[in-house]
Amino acid sequence: MADDLHAQARQALDRGDPDAARDLLAKAHAASPDDAEIRELYAGLLLAHAIHLATDARDARRRDIARRKIPYDEEFQDSPEVARAFDAALAAHDAVLAVETGHEKALMMKATLLFRRDRVTGREAALAILRGLEAAHPDHKQVTFLLKKVGTPCPRCTDTGFCPYCAGRGVRTILRFERVCEKCHSDGICPVCGVL
Ligand SMILES: [Zn+2]
Ligand SMILES: [Zn+2]
Repeated sequence: MADDLHAQARQALDRGDPDAARDLLAKAHAASPDDAEIRELYAGLLLAHAIHLATDARDARRRDIARRKIPYDEEFQDSPEVARAFDAALAAHDAVLAVETGHEKALMMKATLLFRRDRVTGREAALAILRGLEAAHPDHKQVTFLLKKVGTPCPRCTDTGFCPYCAGRGVRTILRFERVCEKCHSDGICPVCGVL
C-alpha cells in the first residue's frame, strides 16, 4: 500500500502538483514509517512547502510595512495577519522535524525564521538550535556563518533587520516620487546583516 501511494505521489510531482504529492506521502509515511526513501522524499516536500511559507511571511511583512508607512525608528510590531503567516511558516518547519528530527536544512531554516520573526525574542532560541547543529557538525560552514550573524546585533539597522534607507519598504520617496530602493534591491532587508 505504501508503495502504491509512493508511486502516486511521484506521478503527482511529475504533473506539478506538490500539494497532492505531500498528502499522498503523508499517508505512505504513516503506513510505512520505516521506509527511508518515502521519509526522505516526504521531508523534502514538507521543507519546500515550509520555505515557501517563510517567503510568504516575509513578503506579507514587507507589504504591510509599505501599506502602514511605519517610520523607521518607530517601535515595530507585526499585524495579526503577518504574525499568522510567520506562525504558519514555523509550524511547517516543525512538521519537517516531526518526520526527521535532525533534518539539518530544516533546523537551519527554523533558526533563521525564529530570528527573522523577532530578533529580540527569537535570538536565543535560534542560537540554541544553531549551537546544537554546530556540536553535531563542527565543520558546517553555513552553521558557523549563521551563528555569527544571529549572535551579533547589527549596528547599521539598529538590529531591526530592515533596510535603513527605505525603512523596510523597498521604495524611497525622493522629491515626492517613489523609487525602488537600490540599497536593498527593493526587498526591504538591511544590506549589512540581511543575508537572512
Ligand atoms: Zn531599502
Ligand atoms: Zn542590519
